[in-house]
This record gives sequence, structure tokens and C-alpha cells, in this order.
Amino acid sequence: MARTNTAADHRLREEFFAEGKRLDAQGDPAANCWICSQRVDYQVAPNTTPDSHNLDHFKPVRNYPELQGDPSNARHSHAACNKSRGAKAPSPGLGEAVPDWW
Ligand SMILES: [Zn+2]
Repeated sequence: MARTNTAADHRLREEFFAEGKRLDAQGDPAANCWICSQRVDYQVAPNTTPDSHNLDHFKPVRNYPELQGDPSNARHSHAACNKSRGAKAPSPGLGEAVPDWW
């Protein structure tokens, strides 16, 4: 199953980033990176720096393609954390030719 990148996927990412930014402004830890628990840099555009925001899929799209567009499967994370997590995922070399955030 190929990863999709439809307009709906794009909208989900934008809305998820906006939600995280709003929560962070309120000091809500729910906006923090779910992998390392540190604050995410919401002042910069997503996926532009290691500390920038990245939409991580709690259940990997690789195994749960039907959940890619499900907001309940989305987690706030650092671009760097999601990247390192992905590298440690099972079956390296199979798929994920493109970064997980795109
Ligand atoms: Zn992190």
C-alpha cells in the first residue's frame, strides 16, 4: 500500500501543527514531543529544523495504512526524534524511501 499525499493529508498536517502551536502557547504539555517529552519549536515551520514540529504516526503507516488520515493516530514530535525512531523501526530498508513526514 503506497503512502498517499492527498490534499486531505496535507490539511491534516496543517491543522495538527496549528493545534500543537495553540496548546504550546497555553503551556499545555500535550503539545510536547511524545517521544522525548521536550517542547517542540512551534516558532519555525514544520520539518525545517531538528526541533521543529513533525506529525508522527503512533501506529506506523507502513503497518496501518488505513490510519494515515486518522487524527487520533497523530502525535506531536520533533522532526529529529521521529527520524531516529523511524531508523530503528523493524525491517530497515523496506519502504520509507521518502521521509515519514512527506
Ligand atoms: Zn523529541
